[in-house]
Amino acid sequence: MLIVMSAQATPLQIEAVAARASGVGLKAHPFHGERRLVLALTGSPESVDPSLFETMDAVLEVVHLRLPYPLVSRAVKDEDSVVRVGGVAVGGPHFAVMAGPCAVESHAQVRAVAAAVRQAGGHILRGGAFKPRSSPYSFQGRGREGLEALRDAGREFGLPIVTEALDERSLELVCQHADMIQVGSRNMHNYALLKACGRCRLPVLLKRGMGSTVEELLLAAEYILAEGNRQVVLCERGIRTFADHTRFTLDLSAVLAVQRLSHLPIIVDPSHGTGKRHKVVPMARGAVAVGANGLLIEVHNDPSHALSDGQQAILPSELAALVRQLPTLLSLTGKDLTNHASSA
Ligand code: PEP
Ligand code: MN
Repeated sequence: MLIVMSAQATPLQIEAVAARASGVGLKAHPFHGERRLVLALTGSPESVDPSLFETMDAVLEVVHLRLPYPLVSRAVKDEDSVVRVGGVAVGGPHFAVMAGPCAVESHAQVRAVAAAVRQAGGHILRGGAFKPRSSPYSFQGRGREGLEALRDAGREFGLPIVTEALDERSLELVCQHADMIQVGSRNMHNYALLKACGRCRLPVLLKRGMGSTVEELLLAAEYILAEGNRQVVLCERGIRTFADHTRFTLDLSAVLAVQRLSHLPIIVDPSHGTGKRHKVVPMARGAVAVGANGLLIEVHNDPSHALSDGQQAILPSELAALVRQLPTLLSLTGKDLTNHASSA
């Protein structure tokens, strides 16, 4: 149920509606827009009589909508959400480049890649310290030490950092050191982790499950917002299909589907989405042209010796060349690179 209120509603008027909602077991989530204020009521509003709210001060309309994911939907907020990661804005007109190694391997490696990301004009440094690997015998990440190395490299080169939390224990560490929490494809359906991220104050990068629909992605985001954290950026990273010329099938049309349904920003990861270095830059260009709000790209200074995902890592020079092309591509979509860390 949505309670549409005047944009000039006072805090007391809003509080009165929220209190009445709470009295019938519903939780009110206020969304302040330019033209109106929407209170989304979550819980089980089906049995609640709309007339309970209709005559309250500053209430314009009560809308009975059966939305599976009200808080992430455009019904509560038609303006694009802008998520702040450190000093970098993601969403709306702001395009962000997140780049770095798949895994943090050593201080020297992450420092070299961070320098390259900064030099290329990337905005946010990525790198995994806790790695969700398909095989238990593959490199699992450097853990706390890797997180500290990533944090140090980010600080040295003035780049906010994003890194994956695998479970609630690693989430605690990630929250201490990072600027953004990554929830990986394999954990998109981990509802306990999603709820825990919802209680954190950091923004969350939520990757689409490799076998998940757009609706399931939005429902996963809804878990985070329902707990109170609205700072969520979605990520299309490829889905499993019968195609075998590519690691996953990068579903660029998911960007359009998400942007139609939700106010949350969505970025694209062409690295995992293709799994092959030669496909990464062309698919990144496609993602920008489609209107994605950013890119997540794996970069390595020595891909043939990388401890994970070396076959899909591009070289620093390739990242720099891609970023140079972005203004031309972005001019097609009304977005820009004003986030550029070096001009911040
Ligand atoms: C990653 O970004 O390194 C990663 C493991 O991605 P995904 O969860 O999309 O597989
Ligand atoms: Mn990877």
